[in-house]
Amino acid sequence: MSIDLSGFYDEAVMSLPVEGELQRDFLDIDGRKIKFIDPIKYQGEIYRAQGEKLLHIDIRCKYEEACGRCLEPFVNVIDTVLSGRLIEKVDEITQDEDDDDLIYYVGEKLDLTEDIMSMVILSLPMKPLCDEECKGLCPQCGANLNREECNCVVENVDPRLLVLKDFFPKK
Ligand SMILES: [Zn+2]
Ligand SMILES: [Zn+2]
Repeated sequence: MSIDLSGFYDEAVMSLPVEGELQRDFLDIDGRKIKFIDPIKYQGEIYRAQGEKLLHIDIRCKYEEACGRCLEPFVNVIDTVLSGRLIEKVDEITQDEDDDDLIYYVGEKLDLTEDIMSMVILSLPMKPLCDEECKGLCPQCGANLNREECNCVVENVDPRLLVLKDFFPKK
């Protein structure tokens, strides 16, 4: 996927619409499995402001992954934004500006694939949860506590006290 910037070389052109889709199936982030349900959609524009070429696009993606507590798959939608300054990538060596909002293009081609994907990854919730209130699984019998109740007595022992617990014989 690459955007043709040649039309934007004419200084009279103030903005260039950017719109498209990225087809991705799976993403594995340190064992976290993200399954994309729809293509990742993006829409926005490249525009001029104060002598700079700026980009602003809205990104939306719908994916499925397993809940970190109950392990059930759930669907989530991410809405995020990619924005930054467009900089022509002239030479690998002269690239010492490590500004976060720089987006590089080569010649007349702008490829946003990597920028969009890293924005999607950054926008994933830290911990995948089917619901903030998810009760998770019973640590003893493995029952999904959102759906059923079990009769296990789960001892809530502070892990720091577990060491001490071993000193006392069980009655
Ligand atoms: Zn859950
Ligand atoms: Zn149980």
